[in-house]
Amino acid sequence: MRVAVVGCGTGGPAAALLLTAAGHDVEIFERVDAPSPVGAGLLLQPTGQAVLARLGLLTEIEQRSARVERLHGETADGRIVMDMAYGDLAPGLHGLGVHRGVLFGALHNALHNAGIPIHQGTEVTGASNGRIQTADGEQGPYDLVIAADGARSRLRPPALVKRARRYPWGALWVILDDPQERHGGTLAQVYRGTREMLGFLASGRPQGTPQVSLFWSVPVDRLTGIQDLDAWKADVRRLTGRADHLLEQVTEPGRLLPAVYEDVVMRRLHAGRLVFVGDAGHAMSPQLGQGVNLALLDAHLLARSLSTHADVETALAAYSAQRRAHLRFYAWASRLMTPVFQSHLGMLGPPRDRLLHPIARIPWMRRQFLTSLTGAKTGMFGALDPGDYAE
Ligand SMILES: Cc1cc2nc3c(=O)[nH]c(=O)nc-3n(C[C@H](O)[C@H](O)[C@H](O)COP(=O)(O)OP(=O)(O)OC[C@H]3O[C@@H](n4cnc5c(N)ncnc54)[C@H](O)[C@@H]3O)c2cc1C
Repeated sequence: MRVAVVGCGTGGPAAALLLTAAGHDVEIFERVDAPSPVGAGLLLQPTGQAVLARLGLLTEIEQRSARVERLHGETADGRIVMDMAYGDLAPGLHGLGVHRGVLFGALHNALHNAGIPIHQGTEVTGASNGRIQTADGEQGPYDLVIAADGARSRLRPPALVKRARRYPWGALWVILDDPQERHGGTLAQVYRGTREMLGFLASGRPQGTPQVSLFWSVPVDRLTGIQDLDAWKADVRRLTGRADHLLEQVTEPGRLLPAVYEDVVMRRLHAGRLVFVGDAGHAMSPQLGQGVNLALLDAHLLARSLSTHADVETALAAYSAQRRAHLRFYAWASRLMTPVFQSHLGMLGPPRDRLLHPIARIPWMRRQFLTSLTGAKTGMFGALDPGDYAE
């Protein structure tokens, strides 16, 4: 097949690599002239790790990542709100805290080695009937167009969009050196009510020195940046002393970069020969740390569906149907949990602080929370079959 992939973030390259390996003729269109990693460190879950292993990229990524063993949340006055270790679900299970550049570099080297052409600086403005529209005119025809153009995709047919809105809260983030690895091994968060949250994610050693990503929760109308750096540092110090050794590295407000979260739900992930992977098909808040993992799984399951069905449209319908329960669960859970941690709904803070940790200690609930964290949940009671993603 002749395949056009729109977007060279995570889902696009993964799909391009898997379809090229299956013998298809793939080319990528990317809006940015010289794509580079944009965004904070991220947490690769066991599901995403399994797809990277299939791509032969996990070992090199692992070597420069931080092994994340647990998720820990506490209030400003030290009450534990959550404390979950991946190892409680299965021995050896863990997340990987990764600098985006490491994932980006691994995927881009693989694209280069596979000889997949990338048309950089080419914004795609529309797709229909197997063709794509760019400023240079129409390209195609293609047997398949993969929309992997992220949370603000321009390719969604309006009739397929069930929900598209921006969360009222986002985050300012910065990646800092953590030479003594005081934040090694964990994704940690500190909260005061629902209006203040600071997150720390161990983000590996992209250049040798251990790093940590810092996330500061902010309503979208204040995402324009920090006006008074000293006042912000004082706010952080009042919340927790755990960032004291990091704050001196933040010497100008511009180092804190904004991230907004979109909430997009589509009725199905395909229309004719156009198919969606990653945030283009299901953007959600990063509260559960799943976006990259879902994008990788989409790419893998799309490639698998195309290899098992004789015609493209049946394969796309099967892919859409197979992704439904998994994506519906994470969209729902993100929407449910995000205001509990980031919102003006202050009344959600006290029950969260009192109840979440005791509930998560009930063995059955603990397994459900941990299965959600690993990226495998498909509903209240269901989970992906590891055969769907692991080798
Ligand atoms: C603060 C924050 C923290 C996060 N933390 C995590 C985490 O810990 N774990 C996790 O799994 N996920 C996390 N995520 C989510 C994750 O970043 C996304 O889900 C993931 O990047 C989606 O990958 P993608 O390939 O679908 O889209 P993207 O990575 O957004 O890539 C889309 C690509 O398409 C290109 N493009 C866009 N429009 C066009 C166009 N019209 N034509 C051509 N090219 C186009 C863009 O330039 C880009 O290169 C986080 C997100 C945020 C904001």
